[in-house]
Amino acid sequence: MRTTTVVVGAGHSGLAASRCLSERSIDHVVVERNEVASSWRHGRWDSLRLLTPNWECRLPGHAYEGDDPDGFMTATEVAEFITEYAKLSAAPVMSGTTVTSVRRSDGGYVVTTDQGEWSCATVVLASGAFNVPRVPACAAAVPPEVTTLTPMQYRNPDQLGAGGVMVVGASATGVQIAAEIRRSGREVVLAVGEHVRGPRSYRGRDIHWWMEVAGVLDERYDEVDDIVRARRVPSMQLAGSDERASFDLNALTGTGVKLVGRLAGINDGLVQFSGSLRNKCELADLKLGRLLDTIDEWATTNHLDDSVPPPHRFEPTVVDSSPRLGLDLKGGEIETIVWATGFRPDYSWLDVPVVDEKGMIRHDGGIVESPGMYLLGSPFLRRRKSSFMDGARVDAEELVGELRSYLDRPE
Ligand SMILES: Cc1cc2nc3c(=O)[nH]c(=O)nc-3n(C[C@H](O)[C@H](O)[C@H](O)COP(=O)(O)OP(=O)(O)OC[C@H]3O[C@@H](n4cnc5c(N)ncnc54)[C@H](O)[C@@H]3O)c2cc1C
Repeated sequence: MRTTTVVVGAGHSGLAASRCLSERSIDHVVVERNEVASSWRHGRWDSLRLLTPNWECRLPGHAYEGDDPDGFMTATEVAEFITEYAKLSAAPVMSGTTVTSVRRSDGGYVVTTDQGEWSCATVVLASGAFNVPRVPACAAAVPPEVTTLTPMQYRNPDQLGAGGVMVVGASATGVQIAAEIRRSGREVVLAVGEHVRGPRSYRGRDIHWWMEVAGVLDERYDEVDDIVRARRVPSMQLAGSDERASFDLNALTGTGVKLVGRLAGINDGLVQFSGSLRNKCELADLKLGRLLDTIDEWATTNHLDDSVPPPHRFEPTVVDSSPRLGLDLKGGEIETIVWATGFRPDYSWLDVPVVDEKGMIRHDGGIVESPGMYLLGSPFLRRRKSSFMDGARVDAEELVGELRSYLDRPE
């Protein structure tokens, strides 16, 4: 079979690309191993809500139009929103079709699937940046009596034993899961490494509203000093809830969650935590202060100071004077460990030499180092918001523009 473009993946990124391809009359298929929006149907815990407000759910030619723009969709609602988008766009999705190989051939690509082969001039990789949980190598040293779960295996506290839980990682996933497990009455220890602190609301508006108007979310990949580092910055400690609650470390310790430093290793059942907890928290407080400075400056420059509450700063993160540095996993205190240590993409099926030693695609703003190949949905791909739905909207428009120019290039 022949087509001009094969899009791999029918999440919001692949569908945004498909919409932009259709608008430019570029013949294409969207190949999806499961069904549309499958990450939101199968890969998320039960209580997950978007941490981005509903008004920020925007895709090319489609946006949230419900009656709760400041609310936060559940995972099921996100799946429905994306499925509706696929229908409205009449996206040519081939569900239940797994791409098993993509390789270069005759100036284009051959995309092999479990349902047959496609020849095409261009490929859009929209297979997701968060396919597989990242788990540290020392997980292998956890004694067998302790149950371990990744965020993709975790569903809700009912699946856990009654004993204590250690959540490793304090970014959006870790703080949300730690808070929920603590609410279920279990003792929770949270191992905290580098993290990004963020309040849900500031000066009467959602933090994402401020980050959008002040241009923070739109900061471009070619404007930051160190894009390699920027792409590795963890997600902000945010969650969507009716109460618009903050999920920073002070909020968690207020409910009884115990903080420890970054998990440094496990030896003979003994977990060692880094002594850097205070430093990591001070750094996160400092960076939050800088973000709020940017927001305040923007508000002043744009004459908003009289229409929103005055600037203020949040309490520094409260850390024990001597947080514990060890924990004996054989002592019975911890029954379950949740590895909230991040996710990575899976390109094991990609037979084009564009994957670096860390498993990430080599690209320049989504233009992959292989002619006619494009990437979507990856953190800070073209701008800070690239991994969010709203980021895929603009990135897809720009990259399909690039793809069009590539097809139109003089031979
Ligand atoms: C826990 C979590 C919470 C998040 N919360 C938010 C949020 O609040 N707001 C926000 O904007 N973003 C959020 N994100 C980030 C991002 O929006 C989601 O990860 C989103 O699912 C990414 O969409 P995507 O289309 O890029 O990838 P995906 O939704 O992962 O879609 C990729 C698709 O490709 C398919 N696929 C993969 N490999 C193959 C193959 N070999 N052959 C065929 N098909 C394949 C998969 O089945 C999948 O359906 C969150 C991410 C995570 C992990």
